[in-house]
Amino acid sequence: MSRTLTDVAAEAADCTKCRLAEGRTQVVFGVGNADADVMFIGEAPGFHEDKQGEPFVGAAGQLLTRMLDEVLGIARSDVYIANVIKCRPPGNRDPQEDEIESCTPWLVEQVSLIQPSVMVTLGNFATKFVLQTAQGITRMRGRAYPWHGRIVIPTFHPAAILRGGGESSRQFLEFRDDFDLVRTTLATEEDAGAPTMAHEGMTESDRVMVPEAEPMPEEQLELF
Ligand code: URA
Repeated sequence: MSRTLTDVAAEAADCTKCRLAEGRTQVVFGVGNADADVMFIGEAPGFHEDKQGEPFVGAAGQLLTRMLDEVLGIARSDVYIANVIKCRPPGNRDPQEDEIESCTPWLVEQVSLIQPSVMVTLGNFATKFVLQTAQGITRMRGRAYPWHGRIVIPTFHPAAILRGGGESSRQFLEFRDDFDLVRTTLATEEDAGAPTMAHEGMTESDRVMVPEAEPMPEEQLELF
């Protein structure tokens, strides 16, 4: 029998593949609907997420939940929310290359099992990781990128919105616009019966996250 998301989460809960296992309270695997049409991907758990075992539960998470409700008209429990890195880096430092490499298979399995038609990358780190681009979020946001028969829509990290002046900022308007793009894209995908790629019979090598991002970023990073 094939693995379910619950099986994968249970396995991830005991993960010791990198040094982040030493300092974490718990693995923050992901939360939401295992059959979601849209998946949100952040960087790594922070203090509150590490304590509660759920991604985006702090102030940034509250803003994300509000945007889901107000712009998408979708409850938090109907989307799937995860991070690239499943354990809190000490002091919220940037994840290191070997930690990213160790953690990547969990995200690959999540995407493979959930099969969202739209993936929203929140902030620089998740956007660069998923689309394998060196371009920053300011350049990348505002558009939808084809990716493995799905669509990736990058936007600002909600924590960056909160740090950068909140709702009176230009960034906030752009952030809202990006959620509008998610809403219209989901409606179009629903009409088209997406995703288009044949996922049945997917092999391990198919799961490698190779970007098909268009417009092509000017610089491509090496695949992990
Ligand atoms: N920031 C993230 O990128 N992820 C979380 O879960 C919380 C804050």
